[in-house]
Amino acid sequence: MNDKVVITVAPTGSISTRADNPNIPYTPEEVAEETRRSYEAGAAMVHLHAREPDTGKPTSDLEVFRAYLAAVKAACPIITQITTGGGATTLGLSVEERLRPVEELMPDSASLNAGSMNFGRKLFPNTPDTIEQYAQRMKELKVMPEFEAYDLSMIHNVEYWVRRQGFLEPPYRFSFVMGVIGGIPATCKNLLVMCESLDPTYSWQAIGIGRHHFTMGAMAVLLGGGLRVGFEDNVFLSRGLPAKSNAELVEKAVRIVRELGKEPATVEEARQMMPLLNKG
Ligand code: ZN
Repeated sequence: MNDKVVITVAPTGSISTRADNPNIPYTPEEVAEETRRSYEAGAAMVHLHAREPDTGKPTSDLEVFRAYLAAVKAACPIITQITTGGGATTLGLSVEERLRPVEELMPDSASLNAGSMNFGRKLFPNTPDTIEQYAQRMKELKVMPEFEAYDLSMIHNVEYWVRRQGFLEPPYRFSFVMGVIGGIPATCKNLLVMCESLDPTYSWQAIGIGRHHFTMGAMAVLLGGGLRVGFEDNVFLSRGLPAKSNAELVEKAVRIVRELGKEPATVEEARQMMPLLNKG
């Protein structure tokens, strides 16, 4: 499936608000509708955070997460992923609180942040103890971790703390988050180094933040990876032009994929391409 590209949509996140783009979905119904349209446009996976439906403020409320996931699953058969990182910087959640929606709701996948860093002005704590604990628990639950690497060191954290210590067998799936202040800058050279640092059996995608959204995405396609788009990471379709919807961002990703001679992976193809722990 070398010509197939997995596109993930991250429809809401926890940082951007309707002051940044009035089209960001907040409620479970809005997020599910945006996800359905993104799925129909070519996305195979969705990455979810939860927000208070009335205010759009990030929340760790299990019932809100439950409503999001139920609405998304009712809307389309997309592969589901829940964050375990969002609440760390925005809500100051404990390690256990960050994992709880994953344990209760059993998505296909969960993000697993592969190291501590300064995320903008905030501390984003992901110690070796946390990484090990999450890897072990996700293995037990058969929820595929997606290791979020914000810098080269985090790839090596996973090799040392997870692979070498035997908490979860490879192959793994990674996201390279490019362009967060405090993480690796979004340049072609840096993405190449990240990509070439991975075991070639692993699955990966690039997440270009802000104005780097589609440049990093296009380079990832050229290098054989996938890409993530959506309002969590970027609210503009192109310079100065706010996107009307997540689906519009997915449509642009699909155009890039096809112009480069590849095709977006279907959900079934994406399931084969990723090291999901529960293939059912
Ligand atoms: Zn996220």
